Amino acid sequence: MGGPKRIAIIGAGVAGLSAGIYAQLHGFRTTIYEKNGVAGGACMSWLQGNLPMEGSMRYLWGVRDGTPLYDCWNEVGALRETMFVNPDSFFTAEDSGETVALCQDLDTFLRHTEKISPEDAPLLERFCGLVRKAQAYELPVDKPADLRSPLEALRANTASGEVAKVLAKLYTVSLADFAQQFHHPALRCAFNQVLPAGSTLGQLALCYAAFTAGDVAVPIGGSHKMIQRMVDCYLENDGELQLQAPVQEILTANGAARGVRLQNGERLLTHWVVSACDPAYTCRVLLQDRYSMEKKLQLRFSEPEAFPTFSLVRLFFSAPADSLPLARVFSFATDLVISAAGEGCSRLIVTQLSDDPLFVQKGCAELIVDIPMPGKRSFRYWEKLSVSPRAYDEEVHRLAADAERALEKRFPDMKGKLQFLTCHTPMTYARRLNAFHGSCAAFLETAKARPAQLTGRLPGLSHLLLTGQWLGRSAGLHTALVQGKYTVQRICHEERILWD
Ligand SMILES: Cc1cc2nc3c(=O)[nH]c(=O)nc-3n(C[C@H](O)[C@H](O)[C@H](O)COP(=O)(O)OP(=O)(O)OC[C@H]3O[C@@H](n4cnc5c(N)ncnc54)[C@H](O)[C@@H]3O)c2cc1C
Repeated sequence: MGGPKRIAIIGAGVAGLSAGIYAQLHGFRTTIYEKNGVAGGACMSWLQGNLPMEGSMRYLWGVRDGTPLYDCWNEVGALRETMFVNPDSFFTAEDSGETVALCQDLDTFLRHTEKISPEDAPLLERFCGLVRKAQAYELPVDKPADLRSPLEALRANTASGEVAKVLAKLYTVSLADFAQQFHHPALRCAFNQVLPAGSTLGQLALCYAAFTAGDVAVPIGGSHKMIQRMVDCYLENDGELQLQAPVQEILTANGAARGVRLQNGERLLTHWVVSACDPAYTCRVLLQDRYSMEKKLQLRFSEPEAFPTFSLVRLFFSAPADSLPLARVFSFATDLVISAAGEGCSRLIVTQLSDDPLFVQKGCAELIVDIPMPGKRSFRYWEKLSVSPRAYDEEVHRLAADAERALEKRFPDMKGKLQFLTCHTPMTYARRLNAFHGSCAAFLETAKARPAQLTGRLPGLSHLLLTGQWLGRSAGLHTALVQGKYTVQRICHEERILWD
């Protein structure tokens, strides 16, 4: 194998593309193998007739010019000359006759919520104080902790200083417990619904701080355009992308990864293998249980109390643009109990994309309805159901009909005009992405979790690195991006290639 060192990358999600681009930029020759017919992984999109469909991205983190994360997005070409949609609110919930909007302007949020519930003013002020503090926090993206010298580690700690300490404390507070302290049910509801069940006050403070600081928005054209720009950047840098090319096995010899074997039998020998898909799937299927992941990562898979997974049933509708809720993400109560994985669901979260003109066609826009699903239990439910395609289909259509009735009741202008398009369930994420327990994003770090720095290395096996959302503290496109970069930094470190 003469010339530049070769890397096989498994998976063309954001992490795989990020790793591919950074590796090409640092002199490696890479091939990304993607099992599906399109790149993007969980960051998925498609055309329904002429209507572009968004399958995942509500928000993108790292859009503020001048931040290190924004620079990373630009290094991989994701934001080239992009305009952004800046929604007025991060999340809006309606309950008990009141509407609580976590709006862009923190003072407006405080004024509005104090008016709804004067007796909650002290807690609301405390919350806004925490969000203001968190606005100063910058996600570290320069290099992974395991590559920092003691001096660099000291500098990084000093730089994040006081804010990091405040956030560390907030990560030990469950958001549900915090929400419970509000007197007004609408505030309790909004704080309970804004992030998946099990999240912490730290996660909310950080997300909302980034939103109010203008670092969270939505690129025009959503996932589709963003992934296309990343693919273009990868190809322009001479990367090779193979679609519909599932990897079946990671080849190993003498304690080192040596390449990959595809499902069609083709073998590629490489210096390095990067697995940018689910770590549990990588070890169990691609390595046939011959090697296991590092202990700290294993713990995440075996401690569902501390690190639960979560998923969704996501129903996609087309709706008249003028009938949609004003807020981008809106939660409302429904007395039409929608049974989901055998449990009742009394609220729906809808996302509408009409603020992006590319998502509006002939006066109609995509409307997404989310029914949250707890991790393993709901996965088993859908897995069992999917044994009979008919039963699975019936359940999907029943949920769609329930959701349609609930939408028409809450938004009478939609009556008779909603068109059900398609549905994603935990089985979609399991089959399409090989995602652990059909989760739509990696683990949630709950208040019970102890944070750990992960490296993506496998004990006893060299020249293989795991990368992607599962290695971060929380899931998300920004995590996948940064983990892809970190992985290439680790390879450069071992190959003694200067990182510039
Ligand atoms: C419904 C939904 C909404 C979301 N909303 C947001 C949001 O608003 N903002 C945000 O930041 N994040 C959001 N996320 C999370 C975000 O999309 C993910 O965290 C991120 O895309 C994960 O990227 P990844 O590259 O680590 O993994 P994935 O995207 O899972 O990539 C793994 C890739 O590996 C491929 N693969 C698997 N097995 C093989 C194999 N054997 N051979 C070849 N290829 C293989 C898969 O097909 C996939 O393309 C959302 C996710 C979902 C599902």
